[in-house]
Amino acid sequence: MTTTVAVIGGGYGGTTVAKELDSFADVVLVEPREDFVHHVAALRGLVDPEWTDRLFYPYSGLLERGRVLRDRAVSVDQGGVTLASGERLVPDFVVLATGSAYPFPAKIDFHDSASAKAKIRATREELAGAEKVLLLGAGPVGLELAGEIKAVWPEKTVTIVDPATEILAGFPDEFRAEIRRQLDDLGIELLLGTSLTEAPVSEPGQAKTFTSGLSGGGEVTADLWFQCYGGAPHTAYLDGELAAARQANGQVEVTSELRLPGQPRVFALGDITALPEGKLAKVAGDHAEVVVANIRALIEGGELRTHTPGGPMISLPLGPSGGATYAEEVGVLDAATTSEIKGAHMMASRYDELFNVA
Ligand SMILES: Cc1cc2nc3c(=O)[nH]c(=O)nc-3n(C[C@H](O)[C@H](O)[C@H](O)COP(=O)(O)OP(=O)(O)OC[C@H]3O[C@@H](n4cnc5c(N)ncnc54)[C@H](O)[C@@H]3O)c2cc1C
Repeated sequence: MTTTVAVIGGGYGGTTVAKELDSFADVVLVEPREDFVHHVAALRGLVDPEWTDRLFYPYSGLLERGRVLRDRAVSVDQGGVTLASGERLVPDFVVLATGSAYPFPAKIDFHDSASAKAKIRATREELAGAEKVLLLGAGPVGLELAGEIKAVWPEKTVTIVDPATEILAGFPDEFRAEIRRQLDDLGIELLLGTSLTEAPVSEPGQAKTFTSGLSGGGEVTADLWFQCYGGAPHTAYLDGELAAARQANGQVEVTSELRLPGQPRVFALGDITALPEGKLAKVAGDHAEVVVANIRALIEGGELRTHTPGGPMISLPLGPSGGATYAEEVGVLDAATTSEIKGAHMMASRYDELFNVA
């Protein structure tokens, strides 16, 4: 009899786990989306029509033996997984890989790909007609989106507002200074230590001119705005004994072997984990390697592997040829290197390979 594994969530971590377990376990990957969405490239997909279609990879190319169930886990407890369809899975192992939500356009809220593409195209049209764009949030998403907009429409006014007094907390000054220098060169206005005194009159991504005061003094006028903050882990389905691992912020406590405490057959990885490290596809991939090795060790015997959280790292493009990268091992890398790492191709080749897309 083969070991059964239910992987809940087919994002960066879940697809890697499912693919690697496929040859030695019976895998069911549960995912409500029609296609894998390459969210790392979502902001390029908004501004560049050629990239809109490239964000979507059919799950049919992922697994040879296992199956992908287009469904959603509504309750996961120590005994198994209940799906929105009513089906109950009782696998030998469960891997929780449900990631996090983030406001559009960084993450795409529709599960069917035709509606998702239609929303991206409609928002691009609104954006194309807007002269002044306001981005609320100067984190990686706000900064990357500003760079993408300027790369396609250099004449637009792009303003970023954030109540924090500095961008990219937790990264070294040298990295922040390089990003700020490039933002200046691109003419992107960065208003820090301040926030809007009135809520925008329009929905995010819908063109409608408005003016708001700023808490730090002055005002800002925009034709369109986007919310670039507010990620939240998807873990509301944790039930029974598993609910104890869910922290107040929605993240899930894990052991160094990436299991829920006291739950030898339930693993968790990626954005949902309460580990002190960046919430990155790269990190979800590292977690996936440990989870696969540990499930294999539990099936075949052998030592369990542990995961040690890494230091801060980021590759932050500002358009296809700008931006900067930081990791402790390499320090600050320049725009040309950042373009090679991410900006020029948005890391698509890895997913072309994973999903068997020519
Ligand atoms: C704009 C943007 C740019 C980024 N750029 C980079 C980058 O350059 N490099 C990098 O390393 N990281 C980057 N990231 C971060 C990266 O996308 C996340 O860290 C990564 O997606 C986390 O992977 P994950 O597997 O934990 O979750 P996700 O990739 O979020 O996947 C979770 C999946 O679970 C599904 N799901 C949710 N709830 C349920 C449920 N109840 N039942 C079943 N399925 C469910 C979701 O539909 C989703 O498909 C970027 C993120 C954004 C938004």
